[in-house]
Amino acid sequence: MDLSTQSSLLAAIVSLALAVSMLLRTQRARTFSLFALVCLSFAAWYLARFLFSITGAPFWLRVSFATAAMVPSAVLEFLLAFLGIGRARRERNFAFVAGLTGWAVATTPLVLAPAARAGAGLLLAASLAVALALLQRRMRQVSSRVERQRLAYLFYGGGGTLLVSLLDFLPSVGIPFPSLGPLATIFYLFFFSHTLQVYRLLDLNEFLGRIAALSALALILAAIFVGLVVWARDDTALFLFNTLVASVVVLSLVDPLRTTVESWVSSVLFRERAELLRTLSALKVRLAGIIDPLHVARVCLDTFHESRRITHGSIYLLADSRPGFSLIDSRGPTPVPFLDAGAARGLLAIARSGQKAVLRENVERRIDEIRQLLGARGQATELAEDDPFRVKLVEESKLLSEIRSALNAMKAGICIPLIGADRVIGFLNLWDERVPEAFASDEIALMLEVGEQIATVVENSKLYERMRERDRLAALGEMAAGLAHEIRNPLGAIKGAAQYLAPAQVGDDDGEILQVIIDEVDRLNAVVTQFLDYARPVKPNVVPVDVNEVVDRTVKLLQVDLDESIAIELQLDPAGPMAMSDPEQLKQVLVNLVQNAVQAMPAGGRITLSTGSSHDDPAGFHLSGRSTDFVEIRVKDTGPGLPEEHREHIFVPFFTTKKGGTGLGLAISQRIIRSHGGTISAQSRPGEGAEFLIRLPAAEKKSEAVQPPEGQAASA
Ligand code: ADP
Repeated sequence: MDLSTQSSLLAAIVSLALAVSMLLRTQRARTFSLFALVCLSFAAWYLARFLFSITGAPFWLRVSFATAAMVPSAVLEFLLAFLGIGRARRERNFAFVAGLTGWAVATTPLVLAPAARAGAGLLLAASLAVALALLQRRMRQVSSRVERQRLAYLFYGGGGTLLVSLLDFLPSVGIPFPSLGPLATIFYLFFFSHTLQVYRLLDLNEFLGRIAALSALALILAAIFVGLVVWARDDTALFLFNTLVASVVVLSLVDPLRTTVESWVSSVLFRERAELLRTLSALKVRLAGIIDPLHVARVCLDTFHESRRITHGSIYLLADSRPGFSLIDSRGPTPVPFLDAGAARGLLAIARSGQKAVLRENVERRIDEIRQLLGARGQATELAEDDPFRVKLVEESKLLSEIRSALNAMKAGICIPLIGADRVIGFLNLWDERVPEAFASDEIALMLEVGEQIATVVENSKLYERMRERDRLAALGEMAAGLAHEIRNPLGAIKGAAQYLAPAQVGDDDGEILQVIIDEVDRLNAVVTQFLDYARPVKPNVVPVDVNEVVDRTVKLLQVDLDESIAIELQLDPAGPMAMSDPEQLKQVLVNLVQNAVQAMPAGGRITLSTGSSHDDPAGFHLSGRSTDFVEIRVKDTGPGLPEEHREHIFVPFFTTKKGGTGLGLAISQRIIRSHGGTISAQSRPGEGAEFLIRLPAAEKKSEAVQPPEGQAASA
C-alpha cells in the first residue's frame, strides 16, 4: 500500500470520527450539523479514493467523483452558516454547476478520459476556492481584531490545504510528488472543529503552539531513530539490535525532550506568556509563607501589576458588617469600594454552578448570542412570551447582564471567585484593558491556583484569629476569676461597713458620702460581674424557644423599673418559627439592648421590639445552595443613633462612650449570640435612632406544644 492509499484511508477514518463527534453533541447548532456534513462528504470521498487505489476498479473512480462533487456545496453551505451570510446566489450557482459537472463525469464514460477528469477536478477546486473567498471577504469586514485573526487562520489554512490537495494530482501527470492532501485536509478539518468549539483566540494560538511543539518533537525523535537504524539496514541482526536501542533511546528521551521543546516553542512563540507563567509559579511559592490576607492581597496584586500583563487588579473579601464584598486592595484605576450581595448575585450563581472563573469576553459573547437567538427565533416562529425556551433564554440574559454590571463595577476582565469552606469569600479580579482575550488557558489555570491560595490564606487567618481569641479569653478568664475573688471580698466588707454606719441616720453630708460609697461599691461589683461574664466561656444550653415569649417576659421584667417617659412597643410575629436558643442568655442580651436604648434616651422616647423570620443567605453565598431559616429580633429606639465612626467599634470589648460604662454589654451580647450560631448587628441613620438586629437559627419546626394566640385559635 503506498503513502497516498494509506493517507486516504486515514483521512476517511478521521473525517468520519470528526463528523460523529459533531453529531453526538447534545446541544447542536446548525453550524455543527453542517460541519458534520462537510466531514462526511470528505470521509466518503477519501474512502472511495482508497477503495479505488487498492482495487483499481473504475466503479470506485466513479464513486469517488460522485462524492467529490458534493464537497463544494457542503463546504459552501457550512461556511455560509458559519459566517452568518444569508444570500450567496453566485457562489451557490457555481458550486451547483461544479457539482453537476462532477456527476456528469462520474456517471458517463467521460470518467475514463483523463482530460475530462482533470477539467472536472479543477472546476470543483475552483468552486472550493470561491467558497473560501467568503472567509476572506468577511475577514476584511469585521472590526474585531480577534475575530479577524481567527478568520485569517481559517482562510490561509483553507487555501494552503486546497493547494496541497491539488499537488496530489501531480503524479497523475507524470510529476512525482508525495501525497499530502489527505493529511492536510484532516489537519484543517480538525483545526476548524476546534475553532467551532473554542472561541478564544489565545486557545487557538496555544493549539497551534502545541502542534508546533509536537511536530518539532516528532522530527527530533524520528531523526534519532532513523540515524540509529538506517546505517544498519543491510545487516538484519544489527538492524534489529539498533531498532531496540533506538526505541530505548527514544523512550527515555521523550519526556524530558517534550518539556524542553514545549517550553522552547512557547518561549519563542509566546514570550510574554512564558514570563507570566514563570512569575505566577514563583508567586505561588511566595504565598505559601504568608498568613495575613492583606499581605497576600498586596503581594499578589503587586506581582500581577509588575508583570505588566494587567491594567486593573483587585481583591474583594466578604464583609463582616453587611452582606456583600469589600475592596481589600487594588492596582490601576480604583473599582467600587463595595459590591453588595444583590450586585454579586450573578457571579455567586456562576460560582455555585461550579464554574471557576468568569471571563468578560465570554459573557459578552453569550449576551450577543442570546440576543440573536431571541430575535431570530422570535421572528421565525413567533415564540409565545411563556415559551419555556424563550423564558430560559430571557432569564439567562438577565443573569448575564447582572454579571456584566458586576464585572464593570469591579473593573474585571476575569473574575475568579475565592471559595472558602462552603461559600464564596471573595473575588480576585484581573483585567488587561488594552487587549481583548488577554489571558491564555494555562495562564488562567495558574491564576485559579493563585485564587485558591488566597482563599486558603483568608480561611486560615480567620481560624488563627479565632484560636488566638480563644486562648486570649481563656487566659483572661483565669485571671478574671482570681481578680474578681480578690476584689469582691473587700468590696463586701466596705459595703457592709458603710451600711453599718446607717447613712439614713447620719447627718446630711456624711450620709450622702456614705451613700456614694455604697453606690460605687455596687457599681464596681457590677463591673466585676460583667467582666467575669465576658471572660467566662459561653456554653449556651440551646433548646427550641419561642422568642416571642422571651421578649414578652423580658419586657415585663424591665418595665417595672422604667421611667414613664420611655414607651415600649411590641410587634411580635405570631407565625414566626421557634429559635434554637438558651432562653436565659437570650434574656440577658435583650436586657442589655433595652438598657442601652434607655440610656441613649435620657429625655425619653420609644423602644420597639419586633420579631420575625428570614432566610439565611438571601444572596446565595453558600455554594451548596443550602440555606437556613433564621428568627429575627429587632430592638429599635428613637435616640440619637450610632455615629458612623462608633458603629464598627461598639462590639469591641471596653468600647464605651458613657461616663460610667464598661463597654462590655455589647461585647458579651455578641459572644452569646455567636455561640448560638447567630449574628447581631447594628444599623443606624443619623438622627433616626439605633436598631439592633439579632438573628438566631430557627428550630426545625414550631413545636406543637406552643399554643397559638387565642383569637387565632378561635378563628381557625
Ligand atoms: P456600655 O453600655 O457599658 O457603654 P455597651 O457595649 O453596651 O457598653 O455599648 C457600647 C457603646 O455602644 C455605648 O457606649 C454607646 O456609645 C453605644 N450604644 C449602644 N447602644 C446604643 C443605642 N441604643 N444608641 C446609641 N448608642 C448605643
